Amino acid sequence: MKTISDPTLLSEVRRYGRFDVDACYNCGSCAAVCDLAEDSALFPRKCMRYVQMGLREPLLRSLDPWLCYYCGDCAQTCPRQTEPGESMMTLRRWLTAQYDWTGISSRLYTSVAWQLGALAAAAALVAGLLQALVFHWDAPLTHVALNTFAPARAVHTFDLTVATLLTALLGTYVLRMFWLTVYRGGTAQVPLASFIEEAQILVLHGATQKQFLECAEPGRWFESRWIKHFLLVSGYAIMFALVVVFLEWFQTDTVHPFWHPQRLLGYYAAAVLVVFLSEALWGRIMKKEQMHKFTDLSDWAFPVLLWLTAVTGIIVHVSRIGGFPQATYAAYAVHLVVAITMLITVYPFGKWSHVVYRPLAMYFHAVKKNALRRQPQPVG
Ligand code: SF4
Ligand code: SF4
Repeated sequence: MKTISDPTLLSEVRRYGRFDVDACYNCGSCAAVCDLAEDSALFPRKCMRYVQMGLREPLLRSLDPWLCYYCGDCAQTCPRQTEPGESMMTLRRWLTAQYDWTGISSRLYTSVAWQLGALAAAAALVAGLLQALVFHWDAPLTHVALNTFAPARAVHTFDLTVATLLTALLGTYVLRMFWLTVYRGGTAQVPLASFIEEAQILVLHGATQKQFLECAEPGRWFESRWIKHFLLVSGYAIMFALVVVFLEWFQTDTVHPFWHPQRLLGYYAAAVLVVFLSEALWGRIMKKEQMHKFTDLSDWAFPVLLWLTAVTGIIVHVSRIGGFPQATYAAYAVHLVVAITMLITVYPFGKWSHVVYRPLAMYFHAVKKNALRRQPQPVG
């Protein structure tokens, strides 16, 4: 395939965040220090060279930015302070926009006005639809009747419909990612057997984000960022399942005893979300860790909306237990508007999509390596 240099690539990538490569003299220290880089994925240097040289096609085909977990080691080592880890973050935003054929992710990542406008428009739309289809403000005020104010079946139908439509849209982005990085971007024909043999990678990394653990000090996993990230993901996976799949079991007017699984699961999810999101947001404010030094507005939207979802959920629960109907209804209305607005603006178009792209990138990377191993070796 003929490779054409595109002089606009660098300025285009820079619209997605910091990408300081002018001082880079290609010494390779960043790739040498990275615990996750390997011969077949020499990041972060290789992708930075692609951008410097305007090589759009190889960059589009690359999975390397997804294999980086932004530990920051390369930034400590770079003799030119070019922040290579942040460049990989910028490339992940750029790649997310390339997989999104609608162009919405690109608009959201490159324009603050678009991000704020989309949040406001989505919140107004969700509030209007919930008001028309779900909320009953004439619910009793003598006691808490949450299922009269917002019947679980109506809420469930609403959030399941939104989640299904958005998942179908994200599915088309995943197909585009596959087409760009494996089908069009393969260095070998990939047989079905390679996909089957490496399927456990998809399951393992999707469930545990295990690659992140490689960045931890040997034997110190319990104090690594991986364990916090794992607990946080477990919290929102449980909350997502309770709200989108099992809402009619989760939202009851009966207040179950403390030890009931409905309450214990809700308490666990709310606790890890509030604790670890508060810590992450504080880290972004203080900018002490390398990964928080250059946060973009798009990096704030997901944790802030998720934190608000968890906190308003706790307020609903406390008001319900305390027997305050008006406070419960108002808090639940805000809770649903925030949660569904987050789903619409962040799930397929923003940071949330990383939960899908990262394990898929690990999988596609392993599948491509598997296919290369299967190629006949030259004799002699
Ligand atoms: S360590 Fe810095 S100067 Fe060296 S290749 Fe990496 S980014 Fe460039
Ligand atoms: S931030 Fe960490 S994982 Fe990412 S390229 Fe740099 S050293 Fe590797």
